[in-house]
Amino acid sequence: MKTHPSMPGSLLLVTFLLWTPPSLAADTTGLKAGTARIDITPEKPVTMFGYDARKDLSTGVHDPLSARVLAFEADGKRLVLVSTDLIGFYSGTADYLRQALLSEFRLQPSELFLTAIHNHAGPALAIDPQRGHANNLEYTEKLKGKLIEVVRQALGGLEPVRLGLAVGSCPIGVNRRELRVNNRGESSIVLGRNVYGPTDKEVLVLKVATAEGKVKAVAFDYATHGTCLGGRNYTISGDVLGLAEQFVEKILGSDVIVPAFAGASGDINPWLRAETGFNTDSGWVPEPVLQGTFLGEEVVHVYRSIRQTGPADKIGTAFVMLQLPVKPPEDPSAKKSEGPGTRPLNVTVARLGDVAFVGLGAEVCTEIGMAIKAASPCEHTFVITHCNGAASYLPTKEMYVQDGYEVKTSPFGPQAADIVIRESIRLLHGL
Ligand SMILES: [Zn+2]
Repeated sequence: MKTHPSMPGSLLLVTFLLWTPPSLAADTTGLKAGTARIDITPEKPVTMFGYDARKDLSTGVHDPLSARVLAFEADGKRLVLVSTDLIGFYSGTADYLRQALLSEFRLQPSELFLTAIHNHAGPALAIDPQRGHANNLEYTEKLKGKLIEVVRQALGGLEPVRLGLAVGSCPIGVNRRELRVNNRGESSIVLGRNVYGPTDKEVLVLKVATAEGKVKAVAFDYATHGTCLGGRNYTISGDVLGLAEQFVEKILGSDVIVPAFAGASGDINPWLRAETGFNTDSGWVPEPVLQGTFLGEEVVHVYRSIRQTGPADKIGTAFVMLQLPVKPPEDPSAKKSEGPGTRPLNVTVARLGDVAFVGLGAEVCTEIGMAIKAASPCEHTFVITHCNGAASYLPTKEMYVQDGYEVKTSPFGPQAADIVIRESIRLLHGL
C-alpha cells in the first residue's frame, strides 16, 4: 500500500484496516472445499436396475448421468461427499467402490459419503461375471476409475470457503403406501398414492462459496424415489433428482457443481409417473422434466434467499456398521435361508459447524429421516440414503402392523428403525 507522507499514524492504521482485502478474512476459517463433476452416462447398452421384470438392454439416452463431488478439508481432516446419478450400490458394489476410494486417497471410512440418488433410469452395477452383463461389468469398472478421477480433481482444487444454508419446500414427493379395502372388508397396503400419509417436503440447500463470493457448489437434499420413468422405460435418464441437478446447473452456470442427495424416501414416489410411449414423440418425456424442473426451481429459489455465508473451522466425522435384528422366523416374509441373527447397516455421520450429515446405507422410510432431523443437535441435517451401503428397506415399527411392500422386502425386524435413529443421533452428539 502506498501511503501519503503527511498521513498521521492513527489514521494510517485505520486506513490499513479498512483496506484489508476480503480474501484475508477468509483465512480466518480453516475450512476449504473443492468440487468436480464427471460424466458417467453409459456408452453402451446396459441392463437397468430397480424393476425385476425389466430384463432387456437400454435403448438410448434421454439425458446424461453424472457423478459430483464436494470435498471439504480442515485441519488435516477431510469430508468427501460423492453424489452419483445411479440407483444405489447393489450386487456387492458398495464395498468394492468405497474401498477403492478409501485406499486411493487414504481416507478414514467416516470421511467418505459415497451416495446414489436412487435413480431407476440408470444402469445396474455389476462386478460378478456370473450375474452381470458384460457391458455392465465394463461400465462398473470404468465407473471406479471415473470416481477416483473426480475425487482427485475435487481434492486437488481445495480453497477457503464459507457456508450458507436455507430450507424450502417442494410437493412432488408423495407417500406411496396406499390403503385399499375390498368389499369383504379386507385391507392391504399397495404401492400407490397415500395423499394423507407423511412426506418430508423439505428442500435443504447448502451453498459453498469463497469469501469473494464465487459460488463453488449448491448441494441439496430431497426425499423422493427416482421412479418417475417407471419399469417400462429403457432410456437412460437422471429421472427427477438428476434432472433437477441439471436444471440448477443450467441456471447457475456449469462451473457451479450441484450434487443432489436422496433424503429418506423409502416410501415416497414422485407425484407423476410416466407412461412410457405416451407423449414421447418430441424426443423427451414430460413427467420427469416437469418435476425435476419444479424441484430445481425451488433449489434455485432457496439458494437465492441465502444472503449470508459463515465460516466453519472444524470437520467431525464418525462411522459405524450397526448390526440390526432381522425379522423373527415366524414372520412369513422372513428370509428363511439367512436364519435368525442380525444384518449390517452402515451409518456415516459428519458435522460442519451447525450442519449435520447422516448417511444411511439403506432405503430408509421418510418417517425415520424426519425423526433424525427432529432429534438432531444441529440446526440443519442432511439425511442421505443409499450412502456407503445398500441394505434394502428400513421401515418404521408401525409399518410392520400394516404390512406392505417395504415391510415384505426388508430383512430387518420391527426394532431396527429405532436403533438406527438412536445411534445416528448419539454419533452426532459425539462430534
Ligand atoms: Zn427403492
